[in-house]
Amino acid sequence: MVSVIIPAYNEQENIENTAGVIGKILDDYGEEYELIFVDDGSKDETWNIIDHLSRQNSSVRGLKFSRNFGKEGAIFAGLKHCDGDCAVVIDCDLQHPPELIPQMLKMHDQGVEVVEAVKSSRGKEGLIYKIFAKSFYRIMRKSSNVDLDRASDFKLMDRKVIDALNDMPERITFFRALSSWVGFRCEKIEFDVAPRQAGSSKWNFKKLVKFALNNITSFTNFPMQIITGLGLLFLIFAIVIGIQSLIKYFGGSSQEGFTTVYILILLSGSVIMIGLGVVGYYLSKIYEEIKFRPRYIVSIDTKDRKRKETDLKNGKNG
Ligand code: UDP
Ligand code: MG
Repeated sequence: MVSVIIPAYNEQENIENTAGVIGKILDDYGEEYELIFVDDGSKDETWNIIDHLSRQNSSVRGLKFSRNFGKEGAIFAGLKHCDGDCAVVIDCDLQHPPELIPQMLKMHDQGVEVVEAVKSSRGKEGLIYKIFAKSFYRIMRKSSNVDLDRASDFKLMDRKVIDALNDMPERITFFRALSSWVGFRCEKIEFDVAPRQAGSSKWNFKKLVKFALNNITSFTNFPMQIITGLGLLFLIFAIVIGIQSLIKYFGGSSQEGFTTVYILILLSGSVIMIGLGVVGYYLSKIYEEIKFRPRYIVSIDTKDRKRKETDLKNGKNG
């Protein structure tokens, strides 16, 4: 059986269609499946639709978060709760073409443990978004050797991989990178990003910056090293200027040195501030991790509810 994990945040227009499309593809392929919709604390009708669907269709299952925890949390909740021999993670807006799932399943049958779908193009994105995404991925690639430029969250994973991911104790996660970090036999297939089916993108600038910072700091210590490098550079700079001003002092013309002093104080001050900021950022992440809070809280699982209802019925009858 394959578990299809679909994170959904304010996707009321998409749920039914997405369930229909993916269901049909898997029916045609002749594979047993469960569709796990993870409602990431939506504020619209998303949960009611999922709930309704799960009562009609036994292969649909819903998990409802107590609030919005972000897509990462939704993916990991799906991985934790799924029962399949393999799982496919796919967006609710059908920007990841579900027609690729049969091909992924075939590769899985041939022994591939992770099938990563990579974007052959990045689809329609704004210029600023593109610049940000590009530089983010460049930093990630340079500093942690994980090439993510065209990576997406659209992946198939074998049970072994799911278990490995579920065993990871960290809470600030970056699914896209972790799924290649765990290793295993991995192959890529390409896809074109389709336009969104309905509704609007759930990202905003603040969310994206937070996402990028989170992922850079949870995957690399590169920013800390930049600071050390900068510090060394300024030390050399300071020594040169220091010697120069000493020479000037003994030459009897020390008056003009003031500008350099200002510059030095300002520059070193700013480097120290940056350094403190970076250290503080890592520290705050350590603090986050050490609290051992869960990365999501599930308030309703349609499977549990179903079980309770059947128990109740059996209890009454018997
Ligand atoms: N999503 C989520 N929680 C969030 C934001 C997004 O579960 O806080 C889901 C969303 O419902 C969709 C997927 O993540 O299924 C991708 O989101 P979106 O299409 O908005 O991102 P984009 O395709 O623009 O990168
Ligand atoms: Mg999308």
